[in-house]
Amino acid sequence: MKELFVSIVIPVFNERDSLEPLMARINHVLKEMKVNYEVLFVDDGSTDGSFEVLCKLRERNPGVGIIQLRRNFGKSAALSAGFWAAQAPVIVTMDADLQDRPEEIPKLLAKLEEGYDMVLGWRKNRRDKIFKRWSSKVFNSVVSALSGVKLHDMNTGLKAMRREVAQELTLYGELHRFLPVLAQWEGFKVTEVEVKHSPRIYGRSKYGIGKLIRSALDFLTVLLHTRYSRRPLHFFGGIGLAIGSAGIGICLYLLSLRLLYGSILHRYPLLIGGVMLAIVGMQMISIGLLGEMIIRERRPIIPPIRKTFPPNQNAFAKPSQRQP
Ligand code: UDP
Ligand code: MG
Repeated sequence: MKELFVSIVIPVFNERDSLEPLMARINHVLKEMKVNYEVLFVDDGSTDGSFEVLCKLRERNPGVGIIQLRRNFGKSAALSAGFWAAQAPVIVTMDADLQDRPEEIPKLLAKLEEGYDMVLGWRKNRRDKIFKRWSSKVFNSVVSALSGVKLHDMNTGLKAMRREVAQELTLYGELHRFLPVLAQWEGFKVTEVEVKHSPRIYGRSKYGIGKLIRSALDFLTVLLHTRYSRRPLHFFGGIGLAIGSAGIGICLYLLSLRLLYGSILHRYPLLIGGVMLAIVGMQMISIGLLGEMIIRERRPIIPPIRKTFPPNQNAFAKPSQRQP
């Protein structure tokens, strides 16, 4: 029996009609590559019968695994459940909606072989609505500028990576959008290759304005996770020192007025402002110190999994007892 080479992780939220054709195309491509593979579908609380379709797929395809989350937790949680269950040294992620083409997988794997840790499928010619294409352009350039990670398509669903990358990074919220940024900041080598992209045929996109706003907030988290992940005190402490010194400066100024003229000359609003700034500054510094304590305790977060098919012994083991 040849060793397992690649785990394909596919988050699924109400994608009933795409699953059969997707599986057929994956089988075709990977059989041609002559490698051993598993396909892990993570059912992220689908309500359209996707899970039943997956169970049928599993009957016919021995390499299929299903992870069912208790409810809809979002793509990041789904991916992280898949990463945790993946057994192969290489992990490929792709969307279930047939927009990412399984035919591009060999190209990504070839690039990975060149010595990269993560390869993104850059959808140069994206087949999505204009609003999404533009918001994505803005997103990519802002993230690229602020994070210093120079890539065209951070949020592509189609990615290949070594398992260490997937297992090292903790995904929740909308953080999957920043996987390449997080990976590069962890010191992994990240690159991209151009891939073809297809329009959505079945089902509906779950992308909306709400997600855009949540991603913007998550970007703050990413900055904290990357630039300041190992030194929260520098971030909060820096802000705290600036604010606090301003507050103390104001208080000293008022004190000198009091000493020179016997009163603060009706500068009471300034007094309130000064005291507030001093307090806020001290609080920021305390938050930074708390952050320093928390990072010592940091552990990967695994989303709540109801069951895995086949049953995974790791699922119910304490983190310290899990097999690598
Ligand atoms: N998805 C998921 N959970 C969610 C939303 C989406 O697992 O809460 C999956 C979805 O089934 C698809 C992938 O994530 O496989 C990308 O979703 P979608 O195509 O809706 O996003 P878009 O490509 O429109 O940005
Ligand atoms: Mg899509």
